[in-house]
Amino acid sequence: MKRIILVSNRLPVTVEHGADGFTVTRSVGGLATALRGAHAWADAVWIGWPGACGPLDEHRRARLDLELARLGTVPVHLSAEEVAGFYDGFANGLLWPLFHYITGVLPLRLEGWREYQEVNARFADAVARNYRPDDLVWVHDYQLMLVPGMLRRRLPEARIGFFLHIPFPSVELFATLPHREKLLEGLLGSDLVGFHTDAYRRHFADSVHRILGARTDPYRIRHAGRDVRLGTFPIGVDPAVFAEGGQRQDVAREVAALRGDGSCKLLVGIDRLDYTKGISRRLLAFDALLANRPEWRGRVRLVQIAVPSRTGVRAYTRLRNEVDALVGRINGTYGTAHWTPVHYINRAVPQTQLFAFYRAADAMLVTPLRDGMNLVAKEFVATRTDEDGVLVLSEFAGAAAELTEAVLVNPYDVERTAEAYHRALTMPAPERQARMRALRRHVLENDVYSWADSFLRALAIDRSTSVKPTFAPWPPRRTPAGGVATRSRS
Ligand code: UDP
Repeated sequence: MKRIILVSNRLPVTVEHGADGFTVTRSVGGLATALRGAHAWADAVWIGWPGACGPLDEHRRARLDLELARLGTVPVHLSAEEVAGFYDGFANGLLWPLFHYITGVLPLRLEGWREYQEVNARFADAVARNYRPDDLVWVHDYQLMLVPGMLRRRLPEARIGFFLHIPFPSVELFATLPHREKLLEGLLGSDLVGFHTDAYRRHFADSVHRILGARTDPYRIRHAGRDVRLGTFPIGVDPAVFAEGGQRQDVAREVAALRGDGSCKLLVGIDRLDYTKGISRRLLAFDALLANRPEWRGRVRLVQIAVPSRTGVRAYTRLRNEVDALVGRINGTYGTAHWTPVHYINRAVPQTQLFAFYRAADAMLVTPLRDGMNLVAKEFVATRTDEDGVLVLSEFAGAAAELTEAVLVNPYDVERTAEAYHRALTMPAPERQARMRALRRHVLENDVYSWADSFLRALAIDRSTSVKPTFAPWPPRRTPAGGVATRSRS
């Protein structure tokens, strides 16, 4: 069996500093959960940034690296300046908003390109140092788009895969990036580039054709004398974790407390506090529901969890103020001494509560302006073993390409989104159940293990083979069910 080298911006570990040293623990959730199977599989090594570890002398640094090696990980340590330029500046200040079509927050001066190149080169160095002939190298996400190209120059024979976890935008938008050629050439160092949806894959092929003039077909690009294959691999969740979590005794108690006597319906939103997630417009639509249909006043409430994120980036501070003001306005306008319309929780919640919110919701509101996939939508469905609850889903989330039995909305259309909430709240039980059954079938059949397996299988097969068919999953190798409450994307 081939050895796998996983490469991602963050390592799936948490380093905590104490008075007498540090502890290193594995983190779970997001990419960490998704790749847990692949990492545990065979002889894998995971290369990435372990997070800010503060100033470490040589001795402590060596001890930390040893601890990390025990977990099968290799650190790329980044300085505060590198994080500011590469991560906050270029990756999250420019690529993130542009790839999500949020052009209003693009900075006038584009910063961090030098650091982005330098940090990508350091990741490529770390891979080259650890590489052995015949390894499969799997690079992840928008922070590391130059790594495949850098590696290809050093390791012409290596088998390199890249997966983009965010949308790839339309060529009209992508072409505005001054660094467009370099980023495309970076990705084309791969043998296989994977996306969540067919649309993102097509956008990428269009961009390569228009910007580099390469010959492309929907699943293959001919570039610099090599073939690069493209594929669609929608990521899933581990359904067993959510099914079991949703049925725990402590979760049932929490669900009962949330639902009370059932006279007040419950809408739930769970997101990072990110401008792509559409939280402000979701609140405006709730405001419109209460304004247009006064019969809901006192009979429905919205619980919105917004986990703080990227607080070093200016656009996120502005968003926080905007959401605070909207929550205040709605509660001030409609709230009474007995009823608060919006319960706003601006922090991460413990696992028990996450399961309980999924389980207790009459409708789950997943209304991003743009989202690569959105795992919250799939986690909600996986938790609903009772086959009840309605998913209100933005048509601009990658998940909408698969979860077609959700109530689909255009989150920019606030009035119609408000009507969709009403529809979800009044949907007859047989329709709710039929939709949820269909959603569950899809989420259970396309889990996170089949996602990782099908990508690795496509990467390992002969280079001339097309990626066109959707891959039948390998028999998923279950790992013990773990927790989900720790975020991996920050
Ligand atoms: N999540 C969490 N703690 C919280 C709220 C959410 O761990 O308090 C998790 C949630 O279970 C999901 C992830 O955060 O796995 C969000 O993933 P998603 O794909 O929806 O969005 P992203 O934040 O990656 O853009």
